[in-house]
Amino acid sequence: MNPALFAAIAAGRPRRLWLASLNVHKAEELGRMLVGHNVEVISLATRPDLGEPPETGATFEENALQKARYVFEAVREPVLADDSGLEVDALGGAPGVHSKRFTPEATAASNNRALLLALQGVEDRRARFVCALALVSELGEEVIRGTVEGQIGHAPRGEGGFGYDPLFLPDEAPGRTMAELRPEEKDKISHRGRAVALLPNLLADLL
Ligand code: IMP
Repeated sequence: MNPALFAAIAAGRPRRLWLASLNVHKAEELGRMLVGHNVEVISLATRPDLGEPPETGATFEENALQKARYVFEAVREPVLADDSGLEVDALGGAPGVHSKRFTPEATAASNNRALLLALQGVEDRRARFVCALALVSELGEEVIRGTVEGQIGHAPRGEGGFGYDPLFLPDEAPGRTMAELRPEEKDKISHRGRAVALLPNLLADLL
C-alpha cells in the first residue's frame, strides 16, 4: 500500500462500493469490517433484477472474481465480492467451493449434520476456512485471500456466526467454536477478517 495515497483517499468523501452478495451474514460481517474504510457499502439487494451472481469456478478466487465482474458489468461502479468456504483435510479439501451446497437442502443444519457424518470415526479433523475477496472497478481487478486454521468438533456449539461456525474450533480460540466467539473476536481471527485486513491495498489501487 502507498500509505500517503490511502490516507488521501480515506480523508476524501466516501466512495460507493457494491457488495456482490445476497448472503445477509456475509454482508453483515463485511459491512461492520468496512467501517473506517471510508466507503459507502451498497447492497446487491437493491438490484433484485440482477439475481444471485454466478459462481461456477473451481477455486474461491475464480468464483469471487466471477461474482464481482458480473455485478460490475451491470452497475459500472466498484464491486467487492466474497467467495468463501471450509476445507477439511480428511475429506481432500471438501466441501471447499461447494460449502454452501454440501447437501441438497443447503441449510447450515443439514450441512453440519452431513459434515459430522462424513467425519464419523475420523481422527484427523484439521480444517480451515478460506475467504477470497475480489475487487473490480474501472481501474482493474484484484483478488486477496484470508484463512483461519482449526479443527472440526464432534457436536455443534454456539449461537453466533453462521454456516459451519458451530463446528469449527479455531486454533486461536482454544476450546471454543467460532459460533461461541463474540462478533469482534470472530472478525479478528476469521478468514474474512484477515482478507479485509489486506483490503486497504486494493481500495487504494482500485477505488
Ligand atoms: P459462497 O456464498 O459460495 O461463498 O458460500 C460460502 C459458504 O461457506 C457459506 O454458505 C457457509 O456454508 C460457508 N462459510 C463461509 N464463510 C463462513 C463463515 O464465516 N462461517 C461459517 N461458514 C462459512
